[in-house]
Amino acid sequence: MTTTPAIDLRSDTVTRPTDPMRAAMASAPVGDDQYGEDPTCNRLQARVAEMLGKEAALWMPSGTMANQVALRVLTRPGDEVIVSRECHAGWHETGGSAANAGVQLVEIGARGVFTVAEFEAAIKSRSMAVFPPSTLVEIENTHNRSGGIVFPQDEVERICASARRRGLASFLDGARLWNASIAGGRPEADLAAPFDLVAVSFSKGLGAPGGSMLAGPKDLIAAATRHRRMLGGAMRQVGIFAAAALHGLDHHRERLADDHANASLFAELLAASSAVEIDPASVQTNIVVFKLAPGAIDADALVARARGRGVLLNAFGGRAVRAVTHLDVSREQARRGAEVLLELLG
Ligand SMILES: *Cc1c(COP(=O)(O)O)cnc(C)c1O
Repeated sequence: MTTTPAIDLRSDTVTRPTDPMRAAMASAPVGDDQYGEDPTCNRLQARVAEMLGKEAALWMPSGTMANQVALRVLTRPGDEVIVSRECHAGWHETGGSAANAGVQLVEIGARGVFTVAEFEAAIKSRSMAVFPPSTLVEIENTHNRSGGIVFPQDEVERICASARRRGLASFLDGARLWNASIAGGRPEADLAAPFDLVAVSFSKGLGAPGGSMLAGPKDLIAAATRHRRMLGGAMRQVGIFAAAALHGLDHHRERLADDHANASLFAELLAASSAVEIDPASVQTNIVVFKLAPGAIDADALVARARGRGVLLNAFGGRAVRAVTHLDVSREQARRGAEVLLELLG
């Protein structure tokens, strides 16, 4: 009996390393990274610092830890952090921002973005002794829960300039900054330039089995090194992972455009159904979040039935579903995935 492999649209984290990536991992020179002696990790850190236009970059085991360390470096307990609605740090890190950094998050804007006016209106006045100090603004680009949208760079520049004038630090959660760069045709360094600290991930669209990085000026990266250790995230022969990240940067970055085209195709096909609410023009990168129209089955039921047909998705709340394209989803599979959903939705 032959079984058709599942079409796994749950996340771009489900990719498994390709054979050439595994070969690069197997042959990577390694050393003890806590003595600064892992040549492959050092090479990756130098390369990513250069790509992001920052002085230094630091390996992190996960994007969540990169975010948590950034919060600890740039804030003090009791501070307030201004963020986009449904940001990763607030929704996908199990309360870590409060537990690890002791900060409270204030969500502003809509659909993952906000304006400089909304940002300035959210800054609490330092003249009021009872207010928590607003000390950091965080932008997520691309924005995961809002469907992989790219934050408009003009607005990023205005927000970060305003933050600097007002004495707030700035942090970019760029787990999918590679996608934002490919979609907008702008180098990562341009997108990262306005920020004090920037996080990027290798375990999403680039297809590596793990790893993220935090980049910024040397003094902030030195502080981040201490917090990484404190959180238990300092590793040893990490070059095995870093080699996969280097391979991903060399071979899987340009092809993100294919994932974006496949996500658009998927959304266009779904838009034909009256049971689905989606504007295909809103799909900018590799994430499609669609709503189920009134009268259609709910998200959990659709996800369960799709699984029975070999199509894996994630429910995002009761009436929304997320599909993500990646290295292990071909154009034909994206098409087939949408066709199965159309059949299930009737
Ligand atoms: C995936 C993701 C992260 C990091 O997640 P890990 O699973 O911890 O690597 C951070 N921010 C955003 C926006 C993400 O989508």
